[in-house]
This record gives sequence, C-alpha cells and structure tokens, in this order.
Amino acid sequence: MTEKIFECKRCGYCCHGETTVSLTKDDLQRMVDHIGLPEQEVKEKYLRITGNVVQMKTVEGHCIFYDNGCTVHPGRPWRCAQWPLHPSIITDQANFEAINRSCPGIKEEVGYEKFCEILAEILESKDKT
Ligand code: SF4
Ligand code: SF4
Repeated sequence: MTEKIFECKRCGYCCHGETTVSLTKDDLQRMVDHIGLPEQEVKEKYLRITGNVVQMKTVEGHCIFYDNGCTVHPGRPWRCAQWPLHPSIITDQANFEAINRSCPGIKEEVGYEKFCEILAEILESKDKT
C-alpha cells in the first residue's frame, strides 16, 4: 500500500547532512549484527558518540553508510526505515509540506486528506505486526 503515497527516487537527500538520526539500543544491536564486526569496532569505525547520543559518522556531507543508496539497508536505524512516512504528517499539514519539500518520493498529487487516510492505514497495519 505504501506505493500509493510514496516511491523512493533514490536521490539520497535523506542520507545527506552533517548529522544523522540517532540510534536506539535496538538500532545499535541490529547494525552490529548486520555488519558482523564486534560492537566496539562498529562504534569506532562508523559511529559518533556524544554522551548518550549515538549517531552515524558523516563523510563528505553524508552518512558514512551512504554510497549511491544505503549500504546497510537491513541494519539501518528505525528512524531511517520510517522516513518519510512520519506519523506527524497526520497531525499537522505543515509537517506534510515540510517532508514533501525534503523528499521527492512523496506523492503529493494524492492530496493531503487521502494521503493521511492511506498513511493511517499503513501505520495501523504496522502496529499490528
Ligand atoms: S529523500 Fe525520499 S526519495 Fe530521496 S532517497 Fe530519501 S526517501 Fe528516497
Ligand atoms: S543508515 Fe542508510 S538510510 Fe540511514 S542515513 Fe545512513 S545511508 Fe541513509
């Protein structure tokens, strides 16, 4: 159903910037399992840790794992997996417009109301899994 409101254009905008999303403990474990190196090595090579905040390092203005697409796709943080279908779209049209400006994969032609209807169904079906 996702394809009704979103189709990734692989532009890479969401993996660019000088900081990345933060990783939860589960994210870290999934990433370590996926990469297959000891946790300490993953932290040293790929992560930027500031106090309790764990993010991915950036290289030349993009996430260290970005190379014409995500190179750790199954091990990526949940916030990366969620993007751009953020629940806040449903509560405020301004969020829809902001996300739409950042992601060319959003099918804005669907219209805000219909978009929210479909997104709510997608989020609900994920809650059940
Ligand atoms: S910004 Fe949107 S369309 Fe571009 S790579 Fe990210 S999810 Fe895909
Ligand atoms: S982990 Fe993958 S999807 Fe997330 S920012 Fe890095 S390259 Fe992009």
